Amino acid sequence: MSQIITREQLKSLISELVKADTLVAAPVATEKGTCFFQYVNESARVVLDAGTSVANSIKEFFFPRHEEICRFVRQANDVVVTDAPVFDKRQVIFGVRPCEASSLPVLDPLFAWDYQDRFYQSRRANTTVVSFACTHTDPHCFCSDMGGSPDNASGSDALLFDLGDGSFEVRTFSDKGKALFEGRTSSSDRTGKACEAPAKTLDLDAIRHWIDAHFNDPMWDEETYRCVGCGACTYSCPTCHCFDIVDEGSFAKGKRVKNWDSCQSALFTLHASGHNPRGTQGQRQRQRISHKFSIYPAKFKVFLCTGCGNCTRVCSTSLGVKPMLDKIADKTKQK
Ligand code: SF4
Ligand code: SF4
Repeated sequence: MSQIITREQLKSLISELVKADTLVAAPVATEKGTCFFQYVNESARVVLDAGTSVANSIKEFFFPRHEEICRFVRQANDVVVTDAPVFDKRQVIFGVRPCEASSLPVLDPLFAWDYQDRFYQSRRANTTVVSFACTHTDPHCFCSDMGGSPDNASGSDALLFDLGDGSFEVRTFSDKGKALFEGRTSSSDRTGKACEAPAKTLDLDAIRHWIDAHFNDPMWDEETYRCVGCGACTYSCPTCHCFDIVDEGSFAKGKRVKNWDSCQSALFTLHASGHNPRGTQGQRQRQRISHKFSIYPAKFKVFLCTGCGNCTRVCSTSLGVKPMLDKIADKTKQK
């Protein structure tokens, strides 16, 4: 038997969670129709099945744009440093696409590698991810190439399937997912189905070999002249995780904070001497593509990309990762 919940019951669940002081994040529509994941305090504005119309990623609920990591105060000839508290609330994220949720197991080993990032880990432990199986794809989706699918359960605590009549089949994959829906569903013999998966078009082994053998290929510059270096592709990406650490305050007291950064920014690798080892946009794109499809998989045995397509959707020059991969795929076929 399957388990079913109605849209109204889901909205009531959101309201109850908010009342119980649980942080709830979900897609909310702007006046122009684009949705953004954000914290909500009422269910009316939530667009549960926003799909590919969501412009930002869920990563900010695990790895915030700006995060305090410690405080410092100067006392006599000493400096007293206090750790910032870790996240100790409970949060639930609704309306997540499977390609967004599957970014979490990709990032987990990074934040538990040479340094145990207790800020990320506490958010992961205290967060329940409720995904919705996709009902449509768009031309930027390529989850199939990256090992995913419109009903991929990786990273989700629960996955909901739209039954087309205002109700959803609920499948749970963790204790957190089971606890969230406990007593809220009814039994049924109906089961849901995701939309058809995007066609596979990429040979990632061939692409990886080409990247490793063509560090100085003119393609990197030729394909990225149109890139304006805004970094939108990295900020909207669920797997990009560059950050900078700065001190805010004065010589007497202040705080040390972690802020999102982007490898697409010209300042990212600029040395104090004025030298920049990645002085062109082509070199910066090469770094992004190499990191995702060669360096990260060599270290963690998984690609640093889920094929969500966010980077191309938000790019004002229609670049992002997939057009770069398509270009490299063409190169691998040339003699
Ligand atoms: S690829 Fe597009 S989104 Fe990314 S930095 Fe360049 S112009 Fe901005
Ligand atoms: S690189 Fe682009 S397609 Fe891949 S996970 Fe990031 S935003 Fe999604």
